[in-house]
Amino acid sequence: MSARAVAPARAEPAGVEPGVAARTLCTRCRKSLVRGRAFAQGGLRRCLGCTLRHPPLLRRSAVTALAVGSLLVAINQGTILASGVLPASLLWQIPLTYTVPFCVATWGALVNSRIE
Ligand SMILES: [Zn+2]
Repeated sequence: MSARAVAPARAEPAGVEPGVAARTLCTRCRKSLVRGRAFAQGGLRRCLGCTLRHPPLLRRSAVTALAVGSLLVAINQGTILASGVLPASLLWQIPLTYTVPFCVATWGALVNSRIE
């Protein structure tokens, strides 16, 4: 008997990358869904790109960013804003303060909707 291992039969049809199940396609763009990078939204399977462009997800993340970001700006920059003397560093600090909760909310939505 040869020491060379026999390759297992391919589970995927021809033209489909290993690890990609042919029956799992993104319901929006019809792209093949790779294991661990498929997300369920409203009972539909979506790829990462379509999930990140899903308007309800973006709306929820924006609302979270507005609420949490405003609170963080008040906590971290409130004294400076109340003084009336606004340093130029606020031009990047305040937008960054709103960006963090947006990213966290989006990340949480992705983790919670990911299909194993
Ligand atoms: Zn897609």
